[in-house]
Amino acid sequence: MADSDGRAASTHAAVPDPLPETGMSEGTLIVGGSQAGVQLAVSLRQLGDTSPIVLVGEETRPPYQRPPLSKEFLAGRADLDSLAFRTPGFYADSGIDLVCGERVTEVSLSASGPVGSGVATTASGRELPFDRLALTVGADARRLPLPGAHLGGICYLRDHDDAVDLRARLATAANVIVVGGGFIGLEVASAARAAGPSVTVVEAADRLMARAVGPVVSEFYLRAHRRRGIDVRLSAGVTGFEGERGQVTTVELSDGTRLPADLVLVGIGVLPRTELAEQLGLTCDQGIVVDTHARTSDPTVVAAGDCTVQPHPMTGQGRVRLESVQNAVAQAQAAASTLLGRPNGVTPVPWFWSYQGDLKLQIAGLSADHDDQVVRGDPDDESFSVLYYRRNRLLAIDAVNRPADYMAVRKALGRGATIARDRAGDPTVPLKSLIGDPAAIAHRTDT
Ligand code: ADP
Repeated sequence: MADSDGRAASTHAAVPDPLPETGMSEGTLIVGGSQAGVQLAVSLRQLGDTSPIVLVGEETRPPYQRPPLSKEFLAGRADLDSLAFRTPGFYADSGIDLVCGERVTEVSLSASGPVGSGVATTASGRELPFDRLALTVGADARRLPLPGAHLGGICYLRDHDDAVDLRARLATAANVIVVGGGFIGLEVASAARAAGPSVTVVEAADRLMARAVGPVVSEFYLRAHRRRGIDVRLSAGVTGFEGERGQVTTVELSDGTRLPADLVLVGIGVLPRTELAEQLGLTCDQGIVVDTHARTSDPTVVAAGDCTVQPHPMTGQGRVRLESVQNAVAQAQAAASTLLGRPNGVTPVPWFWSYQGDLKLQIAGLSADHDDQVVRGDPDDESFSVLYYRRNRLLAIDAVNRPADYMAVRKALGRGATIARDRAGDPTVPLKSLIGDPAAIAHRTDT
């Protein structure tokens, strides 16, 4: 699980009023049993909350880590038992009532009861009353609604059942088509290629992972994956699928190309689950809108993880959705503090990773607003990093097989420091030795 070394120095926002005292007879209901939901329950206990906690999830197995599903699990280096967050006895020992295999379909807040209290109802008709509500409902894989999309062999990867199915199909596939050249698509493409079949990635944009990394890194991955025998098609659209006896046989592209396929993995992003928030009348805008304390537009209800959009953690301008373990953990910790009337006001440094075969991409910070960059090392060596700056101030790093560079930038950003831009490109100088106060470094650069 994620650690929390990357947290930024605390920026204490104005502390809002604690939630009203409720009597706590029903305790907290956490809807969604994944990274954020488990962390929220654990954080409540760590903060000393002794009231009941119900953690309800629609999957039948206890909560597990998702990121390895497209990496170690597909490559056969992890089994599902090793992915569980906690041992089976942990939940009972911690007084966390884990309810698996129940999907919450309705939720309402009480008009007459204590503020923040209400009741949720599951698809099987079970009623779950609560004094405090947390939504950690995650996101669904975005679907491709094209002709032939119902055919067998067209797969998505979001949960353990998807991963088991995909792993079994990979064992016999000859022609794998991956739609989407983001993290999921490229991780699956790498695992598939290592297993032997021909692999083609079809990406709609003109570069890989455009949402997450800068162009230099996209270009590197294009070349690196092609070197490993993966056929990558950029600016390519899928128009439909054809099949025989219910199984996919062909993927059709918009330029008329027909690619033979017996397995298609679609990894074109996710759609945050907002249905329950919408039932409650909470503000949603491509995700459940929360503030830095994980409060929704109704301050008695918190939300955390992939289902949320939040103020940009580094610029404060606009909103972002951060799909990461780090964000799920940090928001869940913030949500627990908020529910207990002790909002923590921490602004963490975002970080992400994507391991595509032997290529370990680590990202710290958010590079989208950069106006300058420094490439450190030679991409042809398959070990390099790109540091991003705005007005001479460090914003982010994309590091490929360079964990020390990544750690130095994470540390610098966490301290509100920067790294001297003029020397960052020299790979013989450790980045950690260049961490410094932004004002001092700006002064030195000016003079
Ligand atoms: P994920 O977590 O599923 O990898 P990302 O948003 O990181 O999600 O990446 C999804 C990728 O899929 C992006 O590079 C995006 O350009 C690409 N994409 C989206 N729609 C299509 C499509 N219809 N065909 C091919 N690629 C697509």
